[in-house]
Amino acid sequence: MKKFLTALFIFTITTANAFAVDMSAEINQATEKILPQVVEWRRHLHQYPELGNREFKTAEYIEKNLRRLGIEVRTKVAKTGVVGVLKGDLPGAVIGLRADMDGLPVSERVNIPFASKEKTEYNGQQVGVMHACGHDSHVAMLLGTAEVLSKMKSKLRGTVVFIFQPAEEGAPAGEEGGAALMVKEGVMDNPKIDAIFGIHINAQTEIGKIKYKSGSFMAAADWFTIKVKGKQTHGSTPWTGVDPIAVSSQIINGLQMIVSRQSELTKAPVVITIGKINGGVRENIIPEEMTMAGTIRTLDDAMQKDVHERVKNTAQKIAESMGATAEVSIDTKTLVTYNTPELVNQMLPSLEKAIGKENVYATEWTTGAEDFSYYRLKAPAFFFNVGGMPKGKNVKDAAPHHTPDFFIDDSRLDVGIKAFCNIVFDYQPTAKTARISDDKILTEILSEQIPVENYFPAQFFDAPFQPFILKGVFAL
Ligand SMILES: [Zn+2]
Ligand SMILES: [Zn+2]
Repeated sequence: MKKFLTALFIFTITTANAFAVDMSAEINQATEKILPQVVEWRRHLHQYPELGNREFKTAEYIEKNLRRLGIEVRTKVAKTGVVGVLKGDLPGAVIGLRADMDGLPVSERVNIPFASKEKTEYNGQQVGVMHACGHDSHVAMLLGTAEVLSKMKSKLRGTVVFIFQPAEEGAPAGEEGGAALMVKEGVMDNPKIDAIFGIHINAQTEIGKIKYKSGSFMAAADWFTIKVKGKQTHGSTPWTGVDPIAVSSQIINGLQMIVSRQSELTKAPVVITIGKINGGVRENIIPEEMTMAGTIRTLDDAMQKDVHERVKNTAQKIAESMGATAEVSIDTKTLVTYNTPELVNQMLPSLEKAIGKENVYATEWTTGAEDFSYYRLKAPAFFFNVGGMPKGKNVKDAAPHHTPDFFIDDSRLDVGIKAFCNIVFDYQPTAKTARISDDKILTEILSEQIPVENYFPAQFFDAPFQPFILKGVFAL
C-alpha cells in the first residue's frame, strides 16, 4: 500500500503542473459551431426512443458517429452499451464521461414535429415509448463532446472514455442491466478510469444553468415487497380468522413511524412510499394474503442500512402481534449518488468558466435516484444537472420527468458539452480526486461474495486513509 501511495504521489506531482492552459475559449468556439448538429442528433433520438436493454438502433447511431470521428469503439457492453475511447496525444489521466440511452414506457403528448410515435410491448402490455427523462439529450451532448475533443486530440492530455449506458431506468424484469452491469463488465477498468463525470438534463431548471451538490446528491432507491399472510374467513366473523388487510394497514402506519419518529431527519431525509397494494376478491371474504410494494429513499449509507432493518422489524413484529406473518424482501436499485467533495471543489471553476459563474449554483439534495451511483464503487465521481426548461417559464408549469408532457428546450445543449470538455482539460489527479482502490475487493463486492457489512474492512487501508476511503469515495 505504501509503495502504491508513493507512486500515486509521484504521478500527481509529475502531471499536476501541466494543466495551466485555459482551453475554454477554444472549446466554446468549437461547441457553438457543432450545436445545430447536436440538436439534430437529439431530435432524431427523441423521435425513435427505445426501452432499457433494447437500445439497438440507438447503439448503432452512437457507434456510427463515434467511428466517424476515428474513436476506438466497443459495442454490446452491458447488453446494448457503447464505449468509445479517445487517446489524447499527450500523457495524462483517464476520465470517464457517461450518458444514459434509454427511453420510458410513456406515450408522448407534446406537440413537436419530432414527437415519438413509437410503440412496443412492455411487461405484456402494449405501450408508447418516449424519451420522457431526456436521455436523448444526454446522448447528443456526449456525442458532441466526443466531436469537440476528437478535434482537439493533439492538445488532449490523457484518455477520455465515453460511456453510453443502457437501462438507467431499470432493466426489464428478470434481466440485469444499467450502470451496475457496466461496472461488472469492466467499463471502469479497461482502461482504468481515474474519475468519472455524468450529467442529467432537468426539465425544471432553466436552460443555460448548471446545478450541483457536493457529497450526497441523489437518493439510494430500494424497492421492497411485504407479503402479509393471515387466515381466510367469512367477512361477518373476523375473530374466526386473521385479517391480513387490517394487519397491512397497521404496517403502513408503522412504516411511516420509521420516517417520522425513528430517523434522524436533520442528518438526511428518508422517504418510505407504498405504491401498490393487492389482496382480496370480494366484499364479504377476508382473504388469506395481502401484498404491498413500495420504495425507500435515503441519502446516507448508514441510514439506508438502518431503515432496511427497521422496515423488516416493523412489518414482522406488527404482523406477529396480530397473529399474522410478514415476509419482507428489499431490492437495492441504486446507491446514494455521492459527489466526491474534493472532485467537486476542483472542477467547479471549470464549470463556471464554461458557462459563466452566475449560471452555476449549488442545490439541495433530491429524493430521486440515479444508477450513476454505481460508478463510484470504482472512482471519485461528480454528477450534476443541466437546465432544460425554457427561459421565463414558471417551474410549476414545467411537466415533470416521466410524464407524457415532459419537454426539453434543446437550444442550450452546448452547456453540457462545454462543461464536459472543460472538465476533461482541467482535471488533475490527486490523492483525493483520483482512483485508489483494490480491484479484487471491488470485484468480490460486485459479485456479492462479500457481505455489505464487510465492505472495506478497516485493516485494508493504511490508517490515515481510512476516513477518506470510508466516507469519501467508496463507502456504501
Ligand atoms: Zn428518469
Ligand atoms: Zn433520467
